[in-house]
Amino acid sequence: MSKVVVVGGGVSGLIASIVASQKHEVILLEANDKCGKKILLTGNGKCNYWNQDIHIRNYDTDHYDNLDTILKNQEEVYSFLESIGIYPKIKNGYYYPYSNQASSVRTILIKELERRKVKVIYQFKVEKIQKEENQFILKSSNQELACDQVILATGGKACPKTGSDGSGYFLAESFHHCIDKVTPSLVPLKANDSSLKDWDGVRCDSKVSLYIDNQKIKEEVGEIQLTDYGVSGICIFNLSGCATRSLEQKKAVSLHINFLPSLETDFDNWFQARNKQIPNHTLEELLESILPYKLMLVLFKKSGIRKEDSWDTLSEEKKAQFIKTITDYELEITESLSFDRCQVTAGGVSLSEINPNTMESLIIPHLYLVGELLDVDGKCGGFNMAFAFISGYIAGRSISC
Ligand SMILES: Cc1cc2nc3c(=O)[nH]c(=O)nc-3n(C[C@H](O)[C@H](O)[C@H](O)COP(=O)(O)OP(=O)(O)OC[C@H]3O[C@@H](n4cnc5c(N)ncnc54)[C@H](O)[C@@H]3O)c2cc1C
Repeated sequence: MSKVVVVGGGVSGLIASIVASQKHEVILLEANDKCGKKILLTGNGKCNYWNQDIHIRNYDTDHYDNLDTILKNQEEVYSFLESIGIYPKIKNGYYYPYSNQASSVRTILIKELERRKVKVIYQFKVEKIQKEENQFILKSSNQELACDQVILATGGKACPKTGSDGSGYFLAESFHHCIDKVTPSLVPLKANDSSLKDWDGVRCDSKVSLYIDNQKIKEEVGEIQLTDYGVSGICIFNLSGCATRSLEQKKAVSLHINFLPSLETDFDNWFQARNKQIPNHTLEELLESILPYKLMLVLFKKSGIRKEDSWDTLSEEKKAQFIKTITDYELEITESLSFDRCQVTAGGVSLSEINPNTMESLIIPHLYLVGELLDVDGKCGGFNMAFAFISGYIAGRSISC
């Protein structure tokens, strides 16, 4: 039996503590006065904790082979979550607790800690960890603790008000781990465009393509929110990690938005047919039931046409320009909102420095690193919590005596 200290009481630290306590004495150190603060915010308070498609294609990392090895444990981890009482409601492959309340997931994890007699020390913010012979010494500003093995589960930098302020990176760096550049992900994006004030507040279905240095990289379909600073919504979030990383590398980032993703692609024909179907109508009338009105006015203004114009009276050049504006609106992205407004951190401790079968550091024996602290970020849909659960579980299971 070893004395194990887990640093951080988020998803990854809670599950690691629960699993490690089956064989070891475990002490969980949490900087806040509560564990699992972030869990309460997840999935808009409903906690989307898992997905039926846990696969490397839904994540970004520099080391997909290691990630693949880690994710192979998903069935065992999922069965464990069920065995401690988390009962799912599944919508389109997204898993929520049946209660639809994030608080139930947090309560189940904390009750399980108590049941397994894990000692939790709150308001212990680890500022320094030293390795002295076979022991680790963990220090806060006024306390000190020695142990045989450490699991670092401090999270990244996303939403620092929940406790994840990036201090884990300094702790990992003090053991000579490399930190891949950290940037916000699952975050709204700021744009430079003349329409921002006019379209603020519009929500619409779109197909959005991400271009980096004029090359199309990724595409997402879904609802987007148009704001006075840029764009938001799930499909923007799913493109944001790649966008922020590219901006960091000083690359040109733009989005190309198709505001009519489910209509046919030959818009010239579509406009002609609609014009025939309802003749003698203005462009405003042709599009009345097709586009949100505020957005329609933005698209007219951007194309230099008037809402009173009719399709027939537009020049071929104007028609082409209008169709391009509706179906291929180019938006220059300048930056993202900050870590305060993001859901997850891209970058972190490189997976190449971790044994993916155990989550143990390849640099310091008996040091384990898990969760968002690592260089792995997933799409919206429960992938990030699932990674925190899986990596935390593996570390807890792998600690040897
Ligand atoms: C608003 C919001 C909504 C989200 N929604 C979803 C969702 O629906 N589905 C999904 O999959 N993901 C979601 N995420 C992301 C997901 O919550 C995180 O990826 C996941 O919780 C990370 O878990 P973690 O244990 O690695 O880190 P965290 O949950 O960040 O926990 C880290 C813990 O460590 C503590 N800590 C940090 N430093 C120290 C230190 N030096 N000493 C002691 N303690 C320390 C912190 O106080 C914190 O309690 C959301 C995130 C946000 C912000």
